[in-house]
Amino acid sequence: MTAIRDVVIVGGGHNALVAAAYLARAGRSVTVLERDDHVGGAAVSERPWAGVDARLSRYSYLVSLLPRTVMDDLGLDIRLRRRRYSSYTPMPDDPARGVLIDGGDAAATAASIEHATGDPGEAARVAAFSDRLAPLGRGLFPTITEPLSAERDARRRVGDDGLWDAVTARPLGELIRSSLSSDVARGIAFTDGLIGTFSRSDDPSLRQNRCFLYHVIGGGTGDWDVPIGGMGAVSASLERAARAAGAEIRTGADVVAVSPDGEVTLADGERVGARVVLSGVGASVLDRLIRAAGAPGGDVAAPEGAQIKVNMLLRRLPRLRDTTVDPRAAFAGTFHINETLTQLDAAHDRAEAGGIPDPLPAEIYCHSLTDPSILGEELRASGAQTLTLFGLQVPHRLVTSGAADRSTLLAAAQSSLDSVLAEAIADVVFEAPDGSPCIEARTTGDLEESLGMMGGDIFHGDLSWPWADDDEPLETPAERWGVSSGHERVLLCGSSARRGGAVSGIGGHNAAMAALELLSRG
Ligand SMILES: Cc1cc2nc3c(=O)[nH]c(=O)nc-3n(C[C@H](O)[C@H](O)[C@H](O)COP(=O)(O)OP(=O)(O)OC[C@H]3O[C@@H](n4cnc5c(N)ncnc54)[C@H](O)[C@@H]3O)c2cc1C
Repeated sequence: MTAIRDVVIVGGGHNALVAAAYLARAGRSVTVLERDDHVGGAAVSERPWAGVDARLSRYSYLVSLLPRTVMDDLGLDIRLRRRRYSSYTPMPDDPARGVLIDGGDAAATAASIEHATGDPGEAARVAAFSDRLAPLGRGLFPTITEPLSAERDARRRVGDDGLWDAVTARPLGELIRSSLSSDVARGIAFTDGLIGTFSRSDDPSLRQNRCFLYHVIGGGTGDWDVPIGGMGAVSASLERAARAAGAEIRTGADVVAVSPDGEVTLADGERVGARVVLSGVGASVLDRLIRAAGAPGGDVAAPEGAQIKVNMLLRRLPRLRDTTVDPRAAFAGTFHINETLTQLDAAHDRAEAGGIPDPLPAEIYCHSLTDPSILGEELRASGAQTLTLFGLQVPHRLVTSGAADRSTLLAAAQSSLDSVLAEAIADVVFEAPDGSPCIEARTTGDLEESLGMMGGDIFHGDLSWPWADDDEPLETPAERWGVSSGHERVLLCGSSARRGGAVSGIGGHNAAMAALELLSRG
């Protein structure tokens, strides 16, 4: 075994890089072990098509939850750009009309909502709903990089008991139905509860509420911004920060066992010792690694993702059935297709019964409209644009049961998109030099295989509330920071950590703080 390191981090996702940078800056010896030939995990950019100069955020694409304090502490050169249009939603029953939410023009937004819904009061309800949620971000986001608050303190910080109960105690559908009247506005609101989460609006488990909460508190405002240069630029900046601080980063290092006393075994038999091990892999992967070391595992639920991701390069943006909206405005924000509340719940029920939702609810966005730097000069000049589709309500069980595979899910996504276009999406897809269409689909099964994300769950498991129960013991550093794995010297530092889901670095930050406390005790 090599010399014992203060900290060994299993997996080299963006959270691991955040933790490594903090720990190395604090003077600790740190080694990151990543099985792939590059770091970044689900926060990477790649050129998916040979001979085509388009570098896409291959998996995650928007940033909201990465705290400013982390960027400042680590001196990261990450640039985020706000999108003027937050969303466009064609009406499923008449796609010649749609709702365009224009952050730069409240009057135009109100007129669009009224025209699409035929309800003169709905625009005011949409604005009031957004205002109503504001205390959540203001009250909770600043706590996200602190030791866990007790629930009563978090509630006090939000300062609105009615809102608190509506978001944390009753299914989200109730709040949405009582606040908004139109099926389309209700659906737009509910999608924030479904990214990476398989749920109905009235699910008593409240998993949709937890997903919604994280989607509306990022940065204190809930804005989702485009990382300039793509998601790979975020991880590259983190990697630079970690290396500059002295962290050792090893790629091609496949971890096959983790013993609770700090011994980490690689696939080639090498053993690396650590005073503290951080797990940048999901809790279910860690559980397997701990069992492989001969230690008892824990009671970890099998994660299940519920999405299909499609990346495309287009010769140009497609024409819309709605001729009153410029496609450059419609695709600049989040473009919702077949996502009314009724459709989202029906899609859930269809998938629950074992079938692919029809139509498949999905959201789309065009990175290159906000940040053309991800395209080579020639492509940019030709008018080419990227398009990313994130389809909802397709749980991993559809893939494992054989009810769905990559091609059937891609076909469902294309058909859903076509339902609101004036031309088939396939007709504007760019062709690679070898004649193949520049379109790639990633199922939950693909994520499991390429990223080690079990069940294709983009958050490594169900999200938990960003506070502790009032009677929860918060005795150890790991418990206080929400990074406990159940083993004293093994801490969760990735998306499985409390408050850890998404590209946020929060899991990494909080694990580093807990590890520093543990190490300082000797
Ligand atoms: C399709 C998709 C779209 C998403 N969209 C967004 C978005 O727009 N915005 C957002 O905020 N979040 C988004 N997410 C979620 C977000 O990307 C993840 O939650 C986040 O990137 C997880 O980071 P992590 O560092 O915790 O883990 P990961 O990124 O999962 O990294 C874990 C790393 O561990 C490595 N590893 C696994 N097993 C081993 C092993 N045995 N030995 C060594 N290394 C191992 C993996 O190769 C990987 O590099 C999306 C995710 C996906 C998949």
